[in-house]
Amino acid sequence: MTTADLVERWRRHEGPLGDPGTPPPVWQRAEGSHVWDADGRRYLDLSSGFGVAAVGHANPRVVEAVRAQAGKLLHGLGDLHPTAVRIRLAERLASVAPFGLTRALWSLTGAGAVELALKTALLATGRHEVIAFRGGYHGTSLGALGVCGWPLFRRPFEAWLPAVDLVEWGGVPAFGESVACVVVEPMQGRGGIVPPADGWLQTLRYECDRWDVLLVVDEVFTGLGRTGSMWMSEAEGVRPDLLVCGKALGGGLPLAAVLGTPELMDRAWAGHGEVAIDTHTHLGSPLSCAAALAVLDVLEDERLPERAARLGERVRDALPGVRGRGLGLGLPCDAVRACERLLELGVIAVPAGREAEVLELSPPLTISEEDLDRGITAVREAVP
Ligand code: PMP
Repeated sequence: MTTADLVERWRRHEGPLGDPGTPPPVWQRAEGSHVWDADGRRYLDLSSGFGVAAVGHANPRVVEAVRAQAGKLLHGLGDLHPTAVRIRLAERLASVAPFGLTRALWSLTGAGAVELALKTALLATGRHEVIAFRGGYHGTSLGALGVCGWPLFRRPFEAWLPAVDLVEWGGVPAFGESVACVVVEPMQGRGGIVPPADGWLQTLRYECDRWDVLLVVDEVFTGLGRTGSMWMSEAEGVRPDLLVCGKALGGGLPLAAVLGTPELMDRAWAGHGEVAIDTHTHLGSPLSCAAALAVLDVLEDERLPERAARLGERVRDALPGVRGRGLGLGLPCDAVRACERLLELGVIAVPAGREAEVLELSPPLTISEEDLDRGITAVREAVP
């Protein structure tokens, strides 16, 4: 079956959700930093599949952990009965969590974890107002859309969305007695790889403390080594009350979490009776948890956050105009055209920014220096 046939079948039976114009490659297989399409053509993946494959596609340790888990337990009973593998992951995540954020709540998507953070903040504070930022991206489910700073995603559903104060990125919001939380990415990812101005996150922390407002830091993109340290909030010296992570966590399987202190999690969620008031069928999917345990081991054993910082410097030195942290990088340009040209050159990358004005460069943290250099050469050719 060729890519052209598959694309035709895809268009007949799926969606429509977006139209890429020219037929995209149909992914058949991926390993490390490479993807093969249905025609057997190989691509270098500078997107990590939306930042997921931090430890590389199909990392052997992740695959082995998933295989072993598949032979034991595929599915459990969500919030009702814990699973051994989920308990091990909760402990392991606590061991790498910054600032004593040692309690986790699970989701299968970043958006779901953002919503859990919002619910936690609403419950813990008893307040109802939320502050977020223009250009901020936290997922497209209805709850997460409420804090999404993209008119494109909001507008068709505006009538259903809560009134959220959307502040300019880098601005200091007007706080008040009713504000439950501020939701912020430490560096905007999909918004165009926009790092924070010096001291701004600290200002937000300071104002949150002054108003007794919770700071929700969305590290779905920046966390788990991507930006050159395990957590960008920790590297910036900014303590989140709630930290959201996802993407890389499941190593290719769906998993996301919101981390908080035991005190805050108890304040929000304890005392609501016997039935869990937030749950989902596949809560803490055993396969995803097994994968995540392997991901955390690989990140630590191979010192991938440090590697991301080092390789990020290499990219900056080679490509003037690149911005970002670690291997969460962006190059301002006509990114739609650049991505098309890169595909022709056998390189996968995705656009970022509300006007697709930034080429996102977020390769696996395990990418070889040789492949990285090949990617840089291709980017130079695609972005004149
Ligand atoms: N937050 C951030 C910072 C993200 O980058 C994303 C995904 N790009 C999300 C939340 C949403 O995650 P998901 O697509 O898994 O719902």
